Amino acid sequence: MTAPIDIESPDIRALRELIALGCRILAKLELVDYLGHVSARVPGTDKVLIRARGAEQGNQLHMTYKQVSLVDIDGVKIGGDFPVPDETKLHTEIYRARPDVQAVVHTHQPLATIFGDLERPILPMQGVMAQVVKQGAIPIYRSARKVTTTEQGAEVAKVLGDKEIVHLQNHGVTIAGQTVQEVVVNAIWLEHQAKLTWQASMIGTPRGMSNDDLQAQAADGFGMEGRWRYYLSLLDE
Ligand SMILES: [Zn+2]
Repeated sequence: MTAPIDIESPDIRALRELIALGCRILAKLELVDYLGHVSARVPGTDKVLIRARGAEQGNQLHMTYKQVSLVDIDGVKIGGDFPVPDETKLHTEIYRARPDVQAVVHTHQPLATIFGDLERPILPMQGVMAQVVKQGAIPIYRSARKVTTTEQGAEVAKVLGDKEIVHLQNHGVTIAGQTVQEVVVNAIWLEHQAKLTWQASMIGTPRGMSNDDLQAQAADGFGMEGRWRYYLSLLDE
C-alpha cells in the first residue's frame, strides 16, 4: 500500500498551479469557458489531478491551484476542496489505458469540433504549429454525449489508441501528452490549424504541408519552454 498523497506538498502544489495556469491560458484564448478541463497524472502513480467542476467555480481565467482536486483511477475524489467534473472518467480511463500519458486536456473548442462533425481532416497548414496534426487523421469517437461513465471513458481511450488527439463528435476534442504545457499548447495549435484549414477552404482546396516540410519544422529550436512563456505572458494583459 502506497502512502497517501499530500496535495499541499510542494511538488503536488506546483503541478496543481501548472494545471490552473493551463486552464487560465485556454480561457484567455476562449478555448474553454466554464466547461473544459486540464488534468495531470501524479508522477509514478495512478492518481490524477484535475480542474474542479465548472460554473460554480467561476471563470477559469481567474482559477487558482485550490480549484484542482485529486482523484483515483476510478475518478473518485480523494483530495481537494471542490467536486470534480462530470467528465472525470474521460480523463481517468485514458490514464488507465495509457501508462505513458502524463497530461490530458478536454475542450469544446469550436473549430476543431466542427471538423470532427464533418469528418474532414485538419491539415498541417503553417509553421511549427502544424506539428500538432503530425499524427495524420484524428480518430473520431462518434457520440455527442458527455463522457461520464467508465464504459464511455474506456471507449474514448480505445478510439484514441496510441494517438495524441481524438475528436468527440459534436462535443469537442481530447488531447493526451507528456506534460501540461504540451497538451495545452497542442489545443491552441489544433484550433489554429483548424482555422487556417477552414479559411483556406473558403478560397480554394488547401493542400497542407508536405511530410518533409512538417518534419523540418519539428527541428524548430524555439522549444516548449519559450512557447509556454509566451502563452503565460498573455495572462498579464
Ligand atoms: Zn465535454
